[in-house]
This record gives sequence, C-alpha cells and structure tokens, in this order.
Amino acid sequence: MDKFLPSQKPPGNLNAKKIPQFVSFGFDDNEKSGFTQEKGTEGMKWAVDTFVSRKNPDGTNCSCAFYFNTKYITKDGAEEPPHLVKKSWKHAMDSGCEIGCHTHSHFNGSKFTVDEWLFEMNKCMDILAKPYIDGDDSEHSGIGIAKDKIKSFRTPFVAYNANMLKAAEKMGFVYDCSLEEGFQDGQDGTNFYFPYTLDEGSPGNKYIHSQNPEKEEVGRHAGIWEIPAYVFIVPPDELCEKYGVKKGLRKKCASLNDFFNERDGKITGFDYNTFVPFQMTADEFIATLKHTLDLRINGNRAPFFVGGHTGIYAQGYESEPEILISEHERRRVIEEFLDYALGKPEVFIAAPIKIIDWMRNPKEL
Ligand SMILES: [Zn+2]
Repeated sequence: MDKFLPSQKPPGNLNAKKIPQFVSFGFDDNEKSGFTQEKGTEGMKWAVDTFVSRKNPDGTNCSCAFYFNTKYITKDGAEEPPHLVKKSWKHAMDSGCEIGCHTHSHFNGSKFTVDEWLFEMNKCMDILAKPYIDGDDSEHSGIGIAKDKIKSFRTPFVAYNANMLKAAEKMGFVYDCSLEEGFQDGQDGTNFYFPYTLDEGSPGNKYIHSQNPEKEEVGRHAGIWEIPAYVFIVPPDELCEKYGVKKGLRKKCASLNDFFNERDGKITGFDYNTFVPFQMTADEFIATLKHTLDLRINGNRAPFFVGGHTGIYAQGYESEPEILISEHERRRVIEEFLDYALGKPEVFIAAPIKIIDWMRNPKEL
C-alpha cells in the first residue's frame, strides 16, 4: 500500500528545477457527445480530440481524465439519443484517456451514508462495464470497460463527507479527486502540496473545515491517493498585461464575489467557477491558467490539476444562462492554454493516474 504524506517538496528528493511539470485535466458529467452535430467539434468528442491530437515533449499523445455520471447514458440523460453519448465515452476510452466514476445520479451526497455512496458508485461501475453495443439506447449496454480499469472517483458538486472516502476505500479506488487544496495562508501557487495519500487526512480539507465546519473533515484513509482540486490564482495587476488582459482582474473578481480575497487571488480550480460566479471572458480565464502554471514551473512544480466539464464546451449550456461567452470562445480557452503549456519543454499533459505512477517512481526530465 502506498504511503505518501503531504509534502511541498518533490518526491525522491529530486530538484524541482529538473522535474516534469505535469498538467492534468479531469472533466466531469460529460453529457454532450459532440456526435449530434455534423462537424463533431463540441462536448466530449471535442475534448478527447483536443487532447490526444497534441503531443508531449517525449512524443506521446497528451491525455486527460473523464469522470462519468452513468445517468447520461440512460433514458434520464440530457442528450437524445443516449447511444451517441455512449459512443463518445467509448471514443475517450479507446483513445487512451482515463475513465473515472462520478456516481450514477449526480446527487449532492454531503449527508450520504456509506451504503448510499456505495450504491451510487456501484451503479455507475456496473453500467460502464456492460458491453458496448453500437447504436443501442437500452440499459443493456455500457462502454465495455473492465471494472478494475476504473481507478478514480470524484464527488458531484464538490460535496463530500467522511463516508464518501470510506466507500471509496471499500470500492478499491486508487485515488479520489474531490478535496480542495491550496487555500491555506502561505500557499501562493509556488509551494502547493504534491499529491498525497490520506493516511493522515488532507491538509486542504482540514483548513476548509476550520473555516467552515459544515464542510466535514474527511479523516484518515490509509493508502488512498488524493489528487486535489488546487486553487487557480488570478493574476495581480502588475502581471495582467503580460498575460494579455487589462489591469483590475482581481478587482472584478472581488466585485462579483465577497469571498474572493484580492490579496491572494485564489479561486476554486474548476472551469464552472471561472465562467459562472466569476464571469470571466476567454482571455481572462486563459490569463489565469497561464499565471497559475507559471507560478508552479518557477516554484516547486507540484502537478497542476484543472477541473472541467465537457458540457460547458458545447452549444446550449442552457442550465447556466449566466455564461456570457460563446462555446467557441469557451473552447478557445482550453486550446490556447494547452498550446501555451506545451510550448514549455518541461510540461507534460497527462491523466492523473500517470502522475501517481510518476510519484511512485519519480524521475528527472
Ligand atoms: Zn459533476
């Protein structure tokens, strides 16, 4: 069993200036196939193709992870017909992307018992593992993945509790990616914790619990890895122009949300948060991603995880009419950021499970 306590230094005593800078995207829900449109340039299909068509410095294809809610491949799904969503998920698997579990129903589970979590996790795994049948809309088909290939879990709505991790332990997941990290004072984007196992709990979770007792402390779970949702850091005024936006981005964020701290510029590291509560334009989000990456490259090079939702990168994200920019602009954020990141020789874009492999056997570039 792995045991990696939280550390702000690279594993194996390696020199931070000589290790790879991993960047990893994990997309949740994934209810829009991208196959209903003639050009197929949105949602799931866009996301898979956007990553795997780009190359890492060693020539391997870039990759990412998808955390699925299996309700989206049943008659309760958001897109008709459901077999196209199944097809897009299989396309992700066949393209070498990582497949993870995000429950069946996408309920808020912050008050769930262990058994309620297990029911939602198992239902998701059971449906994914059913054989893939091209064109089949029934509940007799899934994407044909072996259950032991599904190694990860993310909770819906970042709504977790200790029971969730007890259930994840019973399920045998290698990692969870539901906890937030980096809000602590003194962590500034150059010195985040590397991914860790939950033998002694999660420092990010303990901090959030200390600020907001309603967010339960998850406790100790020996051997389970945490791939945390690290905060993004909005660029300060003196760096805005360098990243192609006008001064005052932190002021704008503060004017929209009281909880935003203009001094540290931290926001939850998910695309939804930048687009909806913070109303960012494409250029503002790109600037935030670039700044967050550059802090790390010049800091300890803790992996950079970005939480996403492929449904946002499709037409008609109607559930969130507050999003003011077009789906083309939304897709441009990810494409431009990937190209910026890959312009740096130390950056590798990989699925989280590969980063755990590297943590176990760390090597310099
Ligand atoms: Zn979700």
